[in-house]
Amino acid sequence: MIKVQNLHKSFGKLEVLKGISTTIENGEVVAIVGPSGSGKSTFLRCLNLLEQPTGGQILIGSDDITNKKTDIMKVRENVGMVFQHFHLFPHMTVLQNITYAPIKVKGAGKAEADMQGLELLKKVGLSEKANEYPNRLSGGQKQRVAIARALAMNPEVMLFDEPTSALDPEMVKEVLEVMKSLAHTGMTMAIVTHEMGFAREVADRVLFLDGGVLVEDAPPAEFFSNPKSSRAKEFLEKML
Ligand code: ADP
Ligand code: MG
Repeated sequence: MIKVQNLHKSFGKLEVLKGISTTIENGEVVAIVGPSGSGKSTFLRCLNLLEQPTGGQILIGSDDITNKKTDIMKVRENVGMVFQHFHLFPHMTVLQNITYAPIKVKGAGKAEADMQGLELLKKVGLSEKANEYPNRLSGGQKQRVAIARALAMNPEVMLFDEPTSALDPEMVKEVLEVMKSLAHTGMTMAIVTHEMGFAREVADRVLFLDGGVLVEDAPPAEFFSNPKSSRAKEFLEKML
């Protein structure tokens, strides 16, 4: 599904990604972990061209998204993203948040988009909030709306950048549960997270980034019980 080859990204003189190569298979769930500033968000943002790579290649399916001729909007339709801080449209109801892009970008009819939106709200357990405004929701509910909104474009891949880091502890679980059930539907997912328990339980593979380098790429059982590098060992000692 996703093939990353020698990905480089610099901001001016600062080299943030130093040649990352990995493959994410169709239906695979990959957790991306590592210290703050190691390049996790930048890596994720390159996968839907929120950042333009400075070198290397990214294939999504058979599309080379690093090719200059690629339609960035098409890539973003196909690769949904959920952020730490939700980014809901404050002046729209929950349902309008979800149906906005399908109607505007995909040309869906309102009735059809509403029906799909309500279906998605049911999936994330928020049917009763369809006509609420975001400022009346808890953080966990906002994040579940953000997930439903991303899913409304029928993406082939979902990216999550620390989706539970801004939440009060009691709301973390409800969001992780939604992500877990999404994983069980066979969605291809890349998740930057500090939730090591979740990574261990749900991910098929863990990518450990440090200093812009992919230091480890291993199944969770291997990564958590037997990290190869001293950097991963140190990181895990602090996290667990
Ligand atoms: P992480 O998500 O692992 O904490 P980031 O990918 O956000 O790390 O950042 C990696 C490095 O890149 C940091 O040093 C950060 O300051 C820098 N960086 C990220 N985005 C930008 C940007 N738009 N302009 C300049 N530097 C950036
Ligand atoms: Mg980050």
